[in-house]
Amino acid sequence: MCSLLGIIGAVTFNADASTLNLLPVIHLITSNDNNDLQTTSANAQIFRRRAYPVPRQTPQIIAKPFDYPVFYGNTHLPEIALTFDDGPNPVYTPQVLAVLQAYTIKATFFDVGYLVKEYPNIVRQEFLQGHSIGNHSWSHPELSRLSATGILSQLVSTSDAIQSVTGSRPTIFRPPYGSFNRIVFAQALQQKLSTILWNDEARDWTTPGVNVIARRILNLARNGGIILLHDGGGFRAQTAAALPIIITALQQRGFTFVTIPQLLYDIATSGHTSSVLSATGTSSLAVLMPTLVVWKQE
Ligand code: ZN
Repeated sequence: MCSLLGIIGAVTFNADASTLNLLPVIHLITSNDNNDLQTTSANAQIFRRRAYPVPRQTPQIIAKPFDYPVFYGNTHLPEIALTFDDGPNPVYTPQVLAVLQAYTIKATFFDVGYLVKEYPNIVRQEFLQGHSIGNHSWSHPELSRLSATGILSQLVSTSDAIQSVTGSRPTIFRPPYGSFNRIVFAQALQQKLSTILWNDEARDWTTPGVNVIARRILNLARNGGIILLHDGGGFRAQTAAALPIIITALQQRGFTFVTIPQLLYDIATSGHTSSVLSATGTSSLAVLMPTLVVWKQE
């Protein structure tokens, strides 16, 4: 069954095109659940012969936030970012952290502000283990329905909470439900937050089973992929159990795992923007900027 998960809205965007010259291709995300686990992208196949890659564990920080929403990273590099939303959770976040530690992998957690306040020690653990922590709003509303002031409040209070726990202010933000518009994006930018979406997800929040979660993620995995999983917001034992399967399979395909800041750094320093541009068949990627993107998925 092939189901369309991503819905791209109208494509009118009035910002100066020159400020959006790095806008990547926006994929419609599909999932083919009947594909064999061994199905890989052509790019991944190229790297299959390599030995197990050594993960880079020092996140690079770029000076400026990205002036476009990021759906995936550098498609020329066999690297993937694991991201976990809706935590911290006292049950499932430690399970996810244990798996990541066992495989010596760094990932990214998009934490909800009021939960950061409730479970600061879990957030501290995420930070101390070398993972990146992003802003996922204070109370997980659909931000595109809020006023600019309401959006700002959600962003600032969450960044404040994370900074008070880790000593480090977040540089990345993921809108709940993947729901954002120009106002949300602009408010995030004003707070020096890059807006991060994803191009690989399993709808693990529907608890479809460990093997289904793994299969969906692996079918969509590709160079520069941003994988969306959840360590909070409900029953997440299946996600934690699927994680070793996903990590092992992707390592066997030659992928390394990077944090979102590292992935952004690898876009910013890649010099491959023009080839991404040409791949879209358009000279201006500004036309691909959606006015509203909503994934009703969490
Ligand atoms: Zn969420």
